[in-house]
Amino acid sequence: MAAPSLPDWTRAVVKVGSALVAPDDRGCSTTHLLPIARFIIESRRRGKEVILVSSGAVAAGLAEQGRSGPGTGLSIPERQALAALGQPLLMAHWRRLFDVSCAQVLLTYDDLQRRSRFVNAKNTIAELLDQNTLPIVNENDTVATEELQVGDNDNLAAYVAVLAEADLLVICSDVDGLYTADPHDDPDAESLTEVEAITDEIYDMVGPSHRAVSTGGMQTKVEAAEKATDRGIDTVLVDGTDGDHLDALGRGKMPGTLFRRIERPLSARKHWMLHALPTAGRIVVDGGAADALRHNGASLLPSGIVAIDGSFARGDAIEVEVEGHDDESSRIAKGITQYGADDLRHIQGRQSHAIAEVLDDAPADYVIHRDDLVLVEG
Ligand code: GLU
Repeated sequence: MAAPSLPDWTRAVVKVGSALVAPDDRGCSTTHLLPIARFIIESRRRGKEVILVSSGAVAAGLAEQGRSGPGTGLSIPERQALAALGQPLLMAHWRRLFDVSCAQVLLTYDDLQRRSRFVNAKNTIAELLDQNTLPIVNENDTVATEELQVGDNDNLAAYVAVLAEADLLVICSDVDGLYTADPHDDPDAESLTEVEAITDEIYDMVGPSHRAVSTGGMQTKVEAAEKATDRGIDTVLVDGTDGDHLDALGRGKMPGTLFRRIERPLSARKHWMLHALPTAGRIVVDGGAADALRHNGASLLPSGIVAIDGSFARGDAIEVEVEGHDDESSRIAKGITQYGADDLRHIQGRQSHAIAEVLDDAPADYVIHRDDLVLVEG
């Protein structure tokens, strides 16, 4: 298959991982960053806008303390402190490579999940671009805790691409694209130049990461691509250790893997429900209810619910699965529930008109309204 060309773009988020910023676990280096900076400078010269998402704060902090080797086994407080130490060094390192002002933007998961904070961050990035500044984003690792963090900069970069209304996400990694299997283990693994849809099969191709300082891996790259492409943002995965890859991108070629944006992107609200709102629980529905959701644009009624899992409250986001063979269920949707788990256990399997007979408080005759539901493909 001939390599696709890079789709036209006007605003890109470029994500650079720790393995490129600090190769060999020895702190910030320019080894791989010069071609990346050149790509950014050239793109800006051609009137395009770029936002950089850079990892490497923890790696820079480790090097500053004279600790060599990967950051395996760091406790959360240690990571938080190392990020505080390394983040200014990381910014200073990037600043040396550009002749424009660089602005530091540190985001938390809360900033992405809560509407008012999301809008604030969005406005700030828009203003920075207007001011011809290069925004350099990282997770605010110093205040991030396990439950309240994005956790990896691949997903963070996808959130930033959505927030900044970018039309391209470039993930620079130390692999030259997505393979059908791990090329280290499987000599028959083939690289994919293009991915049309991110299905379960694509997830099956990638395993969890084994890296130490960087928290990503192929899985988080695919997750990031899914988040971005769902919102209409083409995503490319390129080898940031190969300067030719970056130069090719600059010429509109496509050196790594292109994940194409989906044809009918999700609305901002549905994207937020699916990708930003934390999932608080899960319900399983029968085949009839699943069909009604999938094909008839219906709301979810209590009659089709066969199982409830978790202790969620009214207004929480929950996943909807359809029961399958051998007790295997598969996810078909995510939505905002009108009833908490305890109430649902009382009304599951009943007709809607019976809700008020069973519960004192019956705010709706459906469990998830159609407008509060987003379907997902398996
Ligand atoms: N935010 C982390 C850092 O700057 C890196 C997260 C990641 O590697 O994905 O050190």
